[in-house]
Amino acid sequence: MTYKRSSELFAEAQKVIPGGVNSPVRAFNAVGGDPVFIERAEGAYLYDVDGNRYIDYINSWGPMILGHAYKPVVDAVIEKAKLGTSFGTPTEIETRIAELAVKLVPNIDKIRMVNSGTEACMSAVRLARGFTKREKIIKFAGCYHGHSDSFLIQAGSGAVTFGTPNSPGVTQGTAKDTLLAIFNDIDSVRKLVEANTGEIACIILEPVAGNMGCIPPRDGFLSGLRRLCDENEILLIFDEVMTGFRLAPGGVQERFGINADIVTFGKVIGGGLPVGAFAARAEIMDMLAPIGPVYQAGTLSGNPLAMAAGLAMLTELDQNREIFKSIDEKTAYLHKGIQAALNSYNIPHTINRLGSMISVHFCEGEVSNFETAAHGNNHTFKQFFHGMLDNGIYIAPSAFETWFITEALSYEDLDATIEAVKIVAKYL
Ligand SMILES: *Cc1c(COP(=O)(O)O)cnc(C)c1O
Repeated sequence: MTYKRSSELFAEAQKVIPGGVNSPVRAFNAVGGDPVFIERAEGAYLYDVDGNRYIDYINSWGPMILGHAYKPVVDAVIEKAKLGTSFGTPTEIETRIAELAVKLVPNIDKIRMVNSGTEACMSAVRLARGFTKREKIIKFAGCYHGHSDSFLIQAGSGAVTFGTPNSPGVTQGTAKDTLLAIFNDIDSVRKLVEANTGEIACIILEPVAGNMGCIPPRDGFLSGLRRLCDENEILLIFDEVMTGFRLAPGGVQERFGINADIVTFGKVIGGGLPVGAFAARAEIMDMLAPIGPVYQAGTLSGNPLAMAAGLAMLTELDQNREIFKSIDEKTAYLHKGIQAALNSYNIPHTINRLGSMISVHFCEGEVSNFETAAHGNNHTFKQFFHGMLDNGIYIAPSAFETWFITEALSYEDLDATIEAVKIVAKYL
């Protein structure tokens, strides 16, 4: 494959955009080389500016669960655009998508739209703090909740204490209110709760982690958190930006039968347009302005084009429930095929999967938290990534990302992917 035009465009981009990208994960810093520039996409495929076609396993990092340029979504956006693209007034479609979300997701009465997952999580934490009148939050090492200050905190050498910022620009003052726990380790959470009695507003987590590869919760982890929160009047926030409307119509709450107090959404809920949302029972949501004291706002929140895309997407999922089972089965098929291919060349690896989220880790043993996810062999991953790309398979350019499966993938596409793994595994 040649990537000539992509490299030219990347050179131009770097002159006027930091690193040539508008979101760091798009750059190939972790794997080396220049990113490919995509011109268009359809169904399961991406087409780049050099005329190469790829089977896509990023799918815009999650939203394109039904494939690219999905007709009902595209049509809804086009029709809406003709009527004007933003008014800054209430519109009917905002109520319709809210009604549908409230119908699909267990345990929520009201939902508010924002423009990204970052905004959703940031606002959910503010709401939790306003509701509980407490300031500290607990998050888990390796869980991503967007790029707002409180979340850019990492664990210092496994010590579960006050966080230290892992980005310049995040103040010590902010960092000290974010406590870090270990994913899948309920004791690490209990210790923090006991050491900070009456001070913790919320525990936020990806209930199935997807930003350190896919890491499912161990048995009893989510129910343990629920109990701990109930006993200590702490709000439990499920960040379902990745898992919402993917792992089940009602997300992890439905799939695992555990209720969260606040849920955040993004990705699928926008059908490929910039949308995030947060939702809870009425008692909590009614703390928000204009009826409550917790301020939260947005010029383009609930934007008609974004709502049209989101409503079309959620409607499709609601009316075709078999999709959820179908993508799970496709993912299981891929899992088996990749595993067999890597085993036949004795490549040490662990594959994690839950529903339509899957990740390949180039290490042996259970990958259950950030520390074990970090054991993966990054050199092997780099070779794997570039090998797959050269064979027309586009996976995320980082070993810490989940592959996103879409219903648009055919079994022929999955077989082609497994064949590519066999070719690449030979020289890993
Ligand atoms: C993607 C993601 C976010 C951030 O969403 P943006 O729309 O990129 O701001 C937050 N939480 C989780 C779990 C995510 O996967």
